[in-house]
Amino acid sequence: MTVSYAGDGHASQFDVRKTDAEWQQQLDKQQYKILRKHGTERPFTSPLLKEKRHGVFVCAACGHELFVSETKYESGTGWPSFYQPAAQGAIGTSTDHKLGYARTEVHCARCGGHLGHVFNDGPQPTGLRYCINGAALSFTPRP
Ligand code: FE
Repeated sequence: MTVSYAGDGHASQFDVRKTDAEWQQQLDKQQYKILRKHGTERPFTSPLLKEKRHGVFVCAACGHELFVSETKYESGTGWPSFYQPAAQGAIGTSTDHKLGYARTEVHCARCGGHLGHVFNDGPQPTGLRYCINGAALSFTPRP
């Protein structure tokens, strides 16, 4: 499934749609900068980096379930890392040329909020590394 990024002019295809002013009001400064303006948190700053409890990681903007604790692993990069999304279609991707070369950007499939990027140097079984800004996530422990 291909889902366009919120910033590309196709935001109307997301189920959760808000104006820029509404997002700015709902999210804190850092969340807004990352989720809506494609920002990146400083590495090794997210409290979720060391979160090891059983549970789910949802979108900090809309609550959509994005990742589960079973697929989280220590990548050493300084950003929470997962090898697979919680469900097929939970996240969307787009191509990002911000650094002068192509990277695959990942975002929440429900609200379009930017989460991070996915790379091909992850562990098995997928070989993928979803490098995610902790500030874009909210953790809910589950027994
Ligand atoms: Fe979302």
